[in-house]
Amino acid sequence: MKTLRDIPELKGKKIIVRVDFNVPLDSEGKVKDDKRIRISLPTLKYLLDHEVSQVILMTHVGRPKNNEPNLKTDGIAKRLSEILKQPVAKVDNWGEKGLPNEPIVMLENLRFHPGEKSKDPAERDAFGKQLASLADIYVDDAFSNLHRDHASMTGVPRYIPGYAGLAVENEVRKIVKAVSNPERPFVAVMGGLKADKLTAIDMLLGKADHILLGGALAYSLLKIAGYPMGTSKIDSEGLEEMSAIVQKIQTNPKVHLPIDAVIADQFAAEAKTQVVSIRGVPDHWMALDIGPATIAAYLEILKNARTILWFGPIGVFEMEPFASGTKAIGKAMAESRAHTIVGGGDSAAAAEKLGYGEKMSLVSTGGGASLALVEGKKLPGLEALN
Ligand code: AMP
Repeated sequence: MKTLRDIPELKGKKIIVRVDFNVPLDSEGKVKDDKRIRISLPTLKYLLDHEVSQVILMTHVGRPKNNEPNLKTDGIAKRLSEILKQPVAKVDNWGEKGLPNEPIVMLENLRFHPGEKSKDPAERDAFGKQLASLADIYVDDAFSNLHRDHASMTGVPRYIPGYAGLAVENEVRKIVKAVSNPERPFVAVMGGLKADKLTAIDMLLGKADHILLGGALAYSLLKIAGYPMGTSKIDSEGLEEMSAIVQKIQTNPKVHLPIDAVIADQFAAEAKTQVVSIRGVPDHWMALDIGPATIAAYLEILKNARTILWFGPIGVFEMEPFASGTKAIGKAMAESRAHTIVGGGDSAAAAEKLGYGEKMSLVSTGGGASLALVEGKKLPGLEALN
C-alpha cells in the first residue's frame, strides 16, 4: 500500500483528498457529531505541514435522492474550519466556475452528481476524470468506502497518482495484521443477524484459535443443526446460499455456539423473558441474547486472548433486556490486554454506545470494508491506488 508518506514531493502541489465526512447532520445541515471529521485530521495536518498549495476535500453525505439542501457540505466545511482554526472554502458548481484560490476547499456532496455512483462505468469514469483535473495528487482517506467502485474512489486515481491517507493506512494495517499475523490466542467473536459473515467465518477457521458465535446468526446455525429455535429470527436465505460453509462451520472444533439463551415471548423490550438451555427453546418464544452460562464460557476463552476481532452484536443490544451478551463481550475486550478490533457497523455502534470505544485498539469506521478485508477480498479502493 502506497501511503501519504511515500509521496516524493508535496510542496506546492494540489492534493485532492477523498475523506469520509459522512457525519450526521441536523435539518439545517449542521454537524451533530464530528467524530468522522476528526479521523482525517492527521492526514490534513500532514498535508498542510508539508506546504501543499491546496487541499481539495470531497466526501459523500447520506443518501441524497434529490440534492436535498440539508445534505449539502456547507455545515461540514464550517465545522472543519472551527476545528482547524483556518478557513475552509465551500465551493458550489466547481465544474463551471473552477476552484477559488484558497488553501483548503470543500466540494459539494459527491452523491449530488450522478457520475459518483452511476451504474455506467463510462459515466463514473468521466466524473472521476473531471475530479482528477482539479489536482496533481489523489489521497484516499475514506476507509469505509474502500469496498465501493465509485468515481471518487476508483475513477480519480486512474488519472493522477493515488496514495492511501493516514486513516486508511491505520485501519487497513491493524485489520490485516490481526488476521494475517495475529498474536495468539486469536479469538474472533461473530454475531448479528445476517448470514453475510459466513464467508469471513470460513476464512477465520484457518486463522483464529477460537470463534465465538452469538446473535441470530448462531441461532440460525443451531436451527439447521436440528435444535428447535421457536420463533427466533433466522436468515434462511443467506444460510441456504452458503450451505457448504455452514456444514464446515458446524463441525469445526474451533467454533463455539451458545449453550443457553435469553428468550422472549415477543420482539419487544417489555416482552416476558426467561433463561433456558439451548435445547429448551419452546414454540412461540424467540432467542434474543446469549444466556449467563454462554457468557461465562465465552469470557473464559477471551481472558487469555492476545488478539480479539469482533463483528456483529451478540444479542438485540438495542433493547436493554437483551444487551447483556453484547455488554459482556464489549467489557471483556475493553479490559483485555489483547489487540482489540471492533469491525464497524452495528458492533461499532454497540461499543460506542456502551462507552468502550476509546478502550479498543481499533473501532473500524466501515463494517462492509472491514468484513471484506477479513474475507481476503480485494478492495476496489485499494486496488485503484496501485
Ligand atoms: P448485522 O447487521 O448482521 O450485524 O445485524 C445487527 C443486528 O442484529 C442488530 O440490530 C441486532 O439487534 C440484531 N440481532 C442480534 N442478535 C439478534 C437475535 N438473537 N435476534 C434478532 N436480532 C438480533
